[in-house]
Amino acid sequence: MDSLAHGLWAAAAATVAKRTAGVRVRILPFALWATFPDVLAFGPGVAVGLWLRLAGGAGYAESAQGGHFHHVHIGLPLYAMGHSLLVFAGVYGLCSLVARRSVVSPLGWLLHILIDIPTHSYSYYATRFLWPLSNFGFDGVAWWTPWLLWCTYGSLALVYLLMWRKGWLRSTSRSSSRLASNPRRSQH
Ligand SMILES: [Zn+2]
Repeated sequence: MDSLAHGLWAAAAATVAKRTAGVRVRILPFALWATFPDVLAFGPGVAVGLWLRLAGGAGYAESAQGGHFHHVHIGLPLYAMGHSLLVFAGVYGLCSLVARRSVVSPLGWLLHILIDIPTHSYSYYATRFLWPLSNFGFDGVAWWTPWLLWCTYGSLALVYLLMWRKGWLRSTSRSSSRLASNPRRSQH
């Protein structure tokens, strides 16, 4: 799925979890974590491509391939790393160990992987969720398939409309500040 949809689904999921189950989750960090695998996969390459373009050096002329904006391949399996449940579990365990509690926001990363598994296909970036132990991937329906794209953004529009009608979008920041000022949170 594309990064925008990942972020929007994650923000919606966090809002629903907060409103219906009282889960203490900060919506923006959760949504940002939900875009992390794609940022990790493409961010460094895009940044290098942009830098070469701005610098305008010989490196860019070689890599630009006709003058279009170019994504430079870094040479690391960043896509596989960011989309692996095993890597996620390791990093999540480490974060929770350091924080001495189960951290919630990084679960947005897990949501990204779970959504990507059925929305990629063998022909393009099948999600190798067991990497590096296995290259197994599920041959799902690619997210850019027109009907799936329409369904994705149509569903998102419906979900956000329902949340707006319930007043969940308006009261989120008020609730966050209430949680932040809750003295019980600062006692540990
Ligand atoms: Zn992805």
